[in-house]
Amino acid sequence: MLRNAFPPRLDPPAPNFDERIRGKLISGALPLESPKAMWGGYGTRRPCAVCETTIREAEVEYELDMPGGRRLFMHMGCHSAWMTERIRLGFA
Ligand SMILES: [Zn+2]
Repeated sequence: MLRNAFPPRLDPPAPNFDERIRGKLISGALPLESPKAMWGGYGTRRPCAVCETTIREAEVEYELDMPGGRRLFMHMGCHSAWMTERIRLGFA
C-alpha cells in the first residue's frame, strides 16, 4: 500500500464550513470556552469534533482537554477554523 497516496489534507475547507462551525458553537455541539490544555500529534482515527471525518494517521490531530473533563479531538486546520469562529463570536 502506498502511504504517500494519502497526504495530509491541506485543501481549503468548503465555503459553508465556517457557517457549520458557527452553528455547532451556538447549539453547544462545540464549546465556546478555551481548553485547559492541548496536545498535538498524529491522528489515531478518531472522528474530528469539527468536521466529523476521521483524523487519519498522516494528519495532525489536536487533543483538547476542556473544562469539566470533556475531551475533544480535531484536525489542525479544523482547530484553526474553530478558534476563528470563537473570536468572531467574541469568546476568545
Ligand atoms: Zn476536522
